[in-house]
Amino acid sequence: MTTTPLTFIATNDLSAQTRGRSVPGAETPAALRRGVGWVPANLAIGAFGHIAEDNVFGATGDLRLMPDNEALFNIAESEERPGLSYYLADQTRPDGSPWACCPRTFARDALREFTELTGSEVVASFEHEFFLSGAEETAPFSFERFRKAEPFGSKLVELLDEVGLRPETWLPEYGEDQFEITLEPTGALAAADRAVVLRDLVRDLAERSGRKASFAPLLDPDGSGSGVHIHFSLRDAQTGAPVLHDPERPSDLAEVGAQFAAGIITHAKPLTALTACSPASYLRLSPNRWSVGGAFLGEYHREALVRICPTSTLGGGRPQHQFNLEYRAADATANPWLAVGAIVRAGMEGIKREYQPEKIWHEEDSAEELTRVPKLPTDVEDALDALRKDDIVMSWFHPDLIQTYVDVKRADLESCEGLTAKEICRKVANVY
Ligand code: GLU
Ligand code: MG
Repeated sequence: MTTTPLTFIATNDLSAQTRGRSVPGAETPAALRRGVGWVPANLAIGAFGHIAEDNVFGATGDLRLMPDNEALFNIAESEERPGLSYYLADQTRPDGSPWACCPRTFARDALREFTELTGSEVVASFEHEFFLSGAEETAPFSFERFRKAEPFGSKLVELLDEVGLRPETWLPEYGEDQFEITLEPTGALAAADRAVVLRDLVRDLAERSGRKASFAPLLDPDGSGSGVHIHFSLRDAQTGAPVLHDPERPSDLAEVGAQFAAGIITHAKPLTALTACSPASYLRLSPNRWSVGGAFLGEYHREALVRICPTSTLGGGRPQHQFNLEYRAADATANPWLAVGAIVRAGMEGIKREYQPEKIWHEEDSAEELTRVPKLPTDVEDALDALRKDDIVMSWFHPDLIQTYVDVKRADLESCEGLTAKEICRKVANVY
């Protein structure tokens, strides 16, 4: 076995799969300067491993995967596997100039434009739920479930810490076999990078430990869903001061935050097509599942598309530093860069056009009244239709990128034709 770890240079694609190439450790400096080769049509590979037919790239063209020094994750050797330098990369043209269809570049551009528009930087943090085998028949949130997951839980937290992902909490969740891991907030591009790496590390550790981890939105149509909740806050780009919190306003949400949330709610349907778009995703996104019951802004409300999260002054906590908005309609079948980029672009539309949320929903609002809020898409077709009809959302993307996205999602759907909901869940879970 080689003593110098390999260097894996990776991207994460429209199916939220990490794909890439490795070079010998000694070749890393050269790979950092010149990248490694990549192929445009790889972007058209669907969740089930096939290139979508008639994809816009065909068999032509060449790209580079250019590793980002800021996105290096050193994974130590373990008993079962050698160590690894894992870089996330931008997909560029052969001369190193940006490729308009690269999802990571899409996120970076959106975040830069956001700062140019508002003078604020976006901070984000990802909360992932997933299923882990080996803790069967344990009670929701229980100590027993937590212990049965050991030593996986302790090893995971240690691993994430070593790799620099900054784990915040590790907990037994509600659903059967379900757990949750949250990471500390950081700049939104780094947060999306960490979401990519987190999923890979959780699956890898589970596999090495003789367990199986799945980030699928559902394992069974009647079971609990696993969501990816993305938390957003804003800080002044010059001073770093938090800007989302304003105690003079309703629910303490600063005007810029209210507009940001209103932009997301206005474009909720097409956004969902980008943040939760596997054939199993819409089985999770339905009312009474604590996922999302409709396109609304809520405080103390876990069925809101956008939730104003609680703060606490306990132990000297400062609300303005904790205050954040949570987007709840994502799952791990979505590419984290596309999700962050699209949510931020929707928020930016809200700010530019000075949208206002119709209302902030609270726990005391009646369930009956809530049935009248706009709904999220009911299935992939509905979501893709909403996406294609929204000229504003379509304008955020290079036409080849969005066309490929639609082609890939259609192809995934076709692969599930004729399957029951249970079979769809199983098929998706095999991939995620
Ligand atoms: N499991 C729920 C979902 O599908 C979320 C539950 C929670 O609020 O943590 O999003
Ligand atoms: Mg949870």
